[in-house]
Amino acid sequence: VKKVDTTAVVLQKRNKHISTIVSYSYNEPIYMVRSAFQYMYDAYGNTFLDAYNNIPHVGHSHPKVVMAGQQLMVRLNTNTRYLYDELSAYAERLVATFPSSLNKVFFVNSGSAASDLAIRLAKAYTNREKIMVMESGYHGNTQTSIDISDYKFNNPKGQGQKDYIVKTTIPDTYKGKYTLQIQNAGELYAKEAVVQIQQHAHTIAAFIAEPVVGCAGQIPLAAGYLKPVYEAIRDQGGVCISDEVQTGFGRLGEHFWGYEAQNVIPDIVIMGKPIANGHPMGAVICTDQIAASFEEGVEFFSSFGGNPVSCAVALSVLEVIEEEGLQENARNVGNYYKECLKELQKKYKCIGDVRGSGLFLGIEIVLDGTTKPNTDLATTIKNELRDRHILISTDGPHNNVLKTKPALCFTKANVDTVVDALSELLFEHYNSVIC
Ligand code: PMP
Repeated sequence: VKKVDTTAVVLQKRNKHISTIVSYSYNEPIYMVRSAFQYMYDAYGNTFLDAYNNIPHVGHSHPKVVMAGQQLMVRLNTNTRYLYDELSAYAERLVATFPSSLNKVFFVNSGSAASDLAIRLAKAYTNREKIMVMESGYHGNTQTSIDISDYKFNNPKGQGQKDYIVKTTIPDTYKGKYTLQIQNAGELYAKEAVVQIQQHAHTIAAFIAEPVVGCAGQIPLAAGYLKPVYEAIRDQGGVCISDEVQTGFGRLGEHFWGYEAQNVIPDIVIMGKPIANGHPMGAVICTDQIAASFEEGVEFFSSFGGNPVSCAVALSVLEVIEEEGLQENARNVGNYYKECLKELQKKYKCIGDVRGSGLFLGIEIVLDGTTKPNTDLATTIKNELRDRHILISTDGPHNNVLKTKPALCFTKANVDTVVDALSELLFEHYNSVIC
């Protein structure tokens, strides 16, 4: 029997050659050895309910996905300079999930590479430099991705805002200038963004935003916001990019792609994370015209992008979503989850807001009865849930929003486990039910 190292030893080995800038989660990191569907297992025989990781979209180690990868790995792995069936088979299937104007797809290996490429495409098409970005947005770890990510460049340790970036205010209806009490909050936020666009008229290449801004703390763009903003961007000759790395592939329940909730069609969409259930892959889809302008430049080649193994894995993900009705499950279980959390909100004043849709939810933890962040309590909740073997994370500029975005096979019983644990630990924290 293999002797199992203690967590401290495993951490020590890791720190020997891995920089500490690569962080780990929780006060007490978890030494994982196995995962299946919505569960993860540590080296000491403990089972964790994964209510956090949105990458294993159809479930950790889903057998159909694993099999798809295995079958291709033993048969063929190569690159796009050869012809093979899997590339066009997957492209066809993926493109079918989009409106007809979006029909040319590029494959890369991460969400960061996808956003980087999307900016290149936009610049090539418009012959312009300026990019309008969303406050608190995050699009990846390459230099360009960081340049367009307020979440990173605006960090006290970040590089600051570059000259070619135009940042716009997040249309947050919870603690922003226009809240849900105002009927047309989205339009009012959009109006301000449009004024800003007009100030930079005929110089903006692209506007990039996530439909629900994950790193901002799961903030959905206010209803009615994107349409006028997209129009203004296009009127001055720019293109609109939707970052669907977090929100795509049916996670939001009601819609397969997040932008659909705003009744718009982007010119470019970027994808990553769930696309291949954890196998490293990203993609960019754009219009014929944008692809055509890019074709006038130098060759685009990615050693791994669009390889047959990745395409087979990604195809199996789309198949499983359909076969197992996972978008519908995200809607049903997500609605139930949100209702349960809203019930809990009635009992505890530290829950300022419960938001999001499908299995992409945020719980904003505040100082009782205010909208001010309670980062300490959010951190305590995250760590106490971890001690109860439930995985959840925190995010947002103040790190006070609990994020839950589990695999789409999450069940109502799983929801009960999370909400009961949350309820128990809040009761212990306050020693009563408030309100
Ligand atoms: N866009 C969004 C919205 C993301 O959340 C992320 C990753 N957190 C990325 C892009 C970058 O993806 P990756 O980490 O695969 O490079």
